Amino acid sequence: MNVEVAERASYVGNLKQSIKLMDFDVVIVGAGPYGLSAGLHLKSKGFGVCVFGPPMEFWGSRMPEGMLLRSPRVASNLSDPDRKFTLEHYEKQAELPAQAPLPLDTFVDYGCWFAKQLGDSLDRRRVSSIQSEDSGYRVTLEDGQALRARKVVVATGIGAFSRRPSVFRELDGSRCSHCYDGRSIAHFARRRVAVIGSGQSALESAALLHEIGAEVEVIARNPVLRWVGIHGWLHHLGPISSMLYSSHDVGPAGISRLVAAPKLVHHIPLPLRDKIRMRAVRPAGAKWLPDRLKDVLITSGRSVMMARIQAGEVSLRLDDSTERQVDHVLLGTGYDVDLGRYTFLSSDILQKIRRLDGYPALARGFSSSVPGLHFLGGAAARAFGPLLYFVAGTEFASNELSSYFIRQYKRSGI
Ligand SMILES: Cc1cc2nc3c(=O)[nH]c(=O)nc-3n(C[C@H](O)[C@H](O)[C@H](O)COP(=O)(O)OP(=O)(O)OC[C@H]3O[C@@H](n4cnc5c(N)ncnc54)[C@H](O)[C@@H]3O)c2cc1C
Repeated sequence: MNVEVAERASYVGNLKQSIKLMDFDVVIVGAGPYGLSAGLHLKSKGFGVCVFGPPMEFWGSRMPEGMLLRSPRVASNLSDPDRKFTLEHYEKQAELPAQAPLPLDTFVDYGCWFAKQLGDSLDRRRVSSIQSEDSGYRVTLEDGQALRARKVVVATGIGAFSRRPSVFRELDGSRCSHCYDGRSIAHFARRRVAVIGSGQSALESAALLHEIGAEVEVIARNPVLRWVGIHGWLHHLGPISSMLYSSHDVGPAGISRLVAAPKLVHHIPLPLRDKIRMRAVRPAGAKWLPDRLKDVLITSGRSVMMARIQAGEVSLRLDDSTERQVDHVLLGTGYDVDLGRYTFLSSDILQKIRRLDGYPALARGFSSSVPGLHFLGGAAARAFGPLLYFVAGTEFASNELSSYFIRQYKRSGI
C-alpha cells in the first residue's frame, strides 16, 4: 500500500521531456486546512498519499493582511490523528502567546508548521489537470510531470468560486476586486472605496481599509447588519450553553449543535438541510467589528443597480436613485460553489459528476458519483452541512475519509 515510485522514460506532448510516472494510493489536491489534515490522517494509516499545492496559499495570499479569524481558537485547529499538532502545540514551540481572536499571520504560520509534518508527502506544485485513466487517475502537475493515483481527493477550497454580481461586469480588475483577490490593501490608503456586502469579509475589509486611511462606504442589501456573538450571555450558562452551542460555534443556538454532527446532517432531507446551512452561515460580522466600524459610513437596505466608469471614476447608482463616485469597488459578496470552475477537472469527469446545482452530490466517505473521486471542504457543505465551510470541519472530514478508505481497502484491496 505504500508509495511506489516507478520512473519511466517518456515524453509530454511536443515538449518531448522525460516525465516520471509515480503511483500513489491517494493524491490530495490542495494544501489548505482540509488537504493537509486529510494527508496526515491517511499517511498515519499507511496509505501512499501525497498532498499537492503551496501550503496555506489561500489564507496566506488571498485574505486581507491584518485580518483576525472569526472562528474561536478551539475551532481553528487543523486535524491530525494524535492531536499532536494543534494550534496550542504550535504556539508553545514557537513561544507565542495564545491570542484570541487569532491573527491571520499566526494561523498561516501554524498551517505551514503543520504542513511540515507531512515530510515528503507534501509537494508544493499545483495540479493542472486530472483525467480518468484505467482504474484510477492521471494527475498532471504545473510543470508537466504526470503521475497516476488510485484515488483523488479534491480539497481546493472556495477560492475559485468568488461571486461577482453581474451589475459590476463593466468594471475591470483595477476598479473592482473581490475580498478574496489579494492580501495587500495598503494601496487603498486615501482612496474612496465602496465595499459591497454585509458578511464577515466585507465588514472586516471595511474596518481594515478605514484603519489605513481609505474613505470607505459599506453598501449592503440587508436592511440591518447582523453580528455574531452579540447574545454573549447565552454562552455563559454552563451546561445549558453546551446544549445550545458546540465548541465549533457555527450557527445560532440549537442549530450550532446540529451542525456539529455532519453525519446526522447528511441524512436530513435536502430542502431542510439547505435551510439549516443557509441559516448557519447567513451574512454577519464578528462581535469585535461594530466598534471598529463606528466611523464608517454604512448604507444598508440598498442595492447597486448600475456600475460604470464615468470621467475616470467609478460611478455607482443605487436602488434609491442616489449616486456614488468612488475609486474602487471591493466585493464582499461571498461565493457560489460551482464545480465547473475547477479548471483542473477534465470535461469528461465534470460531465460524470452528479451535482446538486454547482455542488457535488456526495455519499459516505465524501465520495462523488465518479468512483475514486472525493471532495472535501466547502464543496462538501451541501452534502454534510455548513461545518465543512470551516476549519472546524477538518477533524470530521479526515476521520470520515480515512475510515472509508480503510473499509474499502479491507473489502477489495484498493
Ligand atoms: C475572508 C475569509 C475569512 C474566513 N475566516 C474563517 C475563520 O475565521 N474560520 C474558519 O474556520 N474559516 C474561515 N473562512 C473559511 C475558509 O475559507 C475555510 O475555513 C478554509 O479555508 C477551508 O479550508 P480548505 O482546505 O477547504 O480551503 P483553502 O484554505 O482554500 O485551501 C485550498 C487550497 O487549495 C489550493 N489549490 C487550489 N487549486 C489548486 C490546484 N489546482 N493545485 C494545487 N492546489 C490548489 C489553494 O492554493 C488553497 O491553498 C474564511 C474565509 C474567508 C474568505
